[in-house]
Amino acid sequence: MREVYLDNSATTEVSPEALAAYVKTSKNNWGNPSSRHNRGKEAEDLMEDARDAVRHALGAKDGQVIFTSGGTEANNLAILGRVEAKPRFMRGGVILTTAGEHSSVARPLEALKAKGLTVVEIPTRNGVLDLDALTAALTPAVCLVTMMAVNNETGARYPLGEVSRLMRKHAPDAVLHIDATQAFLKVPLTVTQTGADLVTLSSHKIRGPKGVGALWVSAAVTKNRGIAPLLLGGGQENGLRSGTENVPGVAAFATAVRLGEQALPETERHLSALREALIAGVRDNPALSEVKLNLPPTAAPHILSLTLPKIKSETMVHFLSSRGVYVSGGSACSSHDSHLSSAMLAFGLTPEETDCTIRVSFGVQNTHEDIDRFLAALAEGLSTLVRKR
Ligand code: PMP
Repeated sequence: MREVYLDNSATTEVSPEALAAYVKTSKNNWGNPSSRHNRGKEAEDLMEDARDAVRHALGAKDGQVIFTSGGTEANNLAILGRVEAKPRFMRGGVILTTAGEHSSVARPLEALKAKGLTVVEIPTRNGVLDLDALTAALTPAVCLVTMMAVNNETGARYPLGEVSRLMRKHAPDAVLHIDATQAFLKVPLTVTQTGADLVTLSSHKIRGPKGVGALWVSAAVTKNRGIAPLLLGGGQENGLRSGTENVPGVAAFATAVRLGEQALPETERHLSALREALIAGVRDNPALSEVKLNLPPTAAPHILSLTLPKIKSETMVHFLSSRGVYVSGGSACSSHDSHLSSAMLAFGLTPEETDCTIRVSFGVQNTHEDIDRFLAALAEGLSTLVRKR
């Protein structure tokens, strides 16, 4: 039975090109970029080339690219590093975020709250960022606004350009951090159009290897010394992230970035067509009439959230898996703990509905046949599991 992998927001299959770059770099360019001989220089050149690839894909003419161990570390660096940068932020800083962020944003914010900082969550009901609430919360005491470009569970997109315009007007000290882990190379996203100061990226969501990511830091933040490192040591990554660089991982990430950037228009078209087909397939099938589509008004093309009629997502995920169809219940990162998804609750679902919600996420390798297989397996699951209830 051919697998139907519809969990691309959890992770993607590494592309052959990225894998080849990893192997080639490991074999041929194993030097330490800090070494002052030729082997070091050649590794350093690969790092610089990778920084160029990331900047280009973000439409950034300048700024630093700090390579990290992934999206989680980049988010921690952006948030904790921002607050560490100035004593006044640590004393009376205010941070704005959205209801329903990924745990790698939500947890550092909880830690800062416990230290006495003020964290304000802007509502995102039905996947719409409440701009009035944001405007009301923007004051000169705000040092950071952190939000995702695309929600990893609902696919909701937020109007980041509008957010940064409001910030400039009402909170001149604030920087905008965007967790673009799910958005990067799925939808067009540039630092100029969003007005971002800090951008988080993760390699394994774009067909690069796991354990690699990046934080783009604007030239203005660097000039201002507006962010401090979390890892201290040899001073790599311009002092913002010590530790010998993961050169093969970074080279493979850069390969995935370049391929992803080239393919973006076609990727967007393909993913949108799959999502539309799935939505139509649910609407047109009487056997799926009780399935609720959780559709934000502005959504990324690769994520679709479905609430099932009184069947726990976990049960359905297992059933579908037995049919070779892989989706997730909530996000892979939150499905380890027993907490209900804050993103779905923020969207407006009841706790019971949240518990019965699955996420389908498409990738470039998926086909329309995959959608048909999913719809058939879902219908079979609904009738089998409902009967068993
Ligand atoms: N932010 C979002 C929105 C994510 O979906 C994820 C991954 N699930 C992360 C951050 C964390 O990225 P990584 O797995 O590279 O640590």
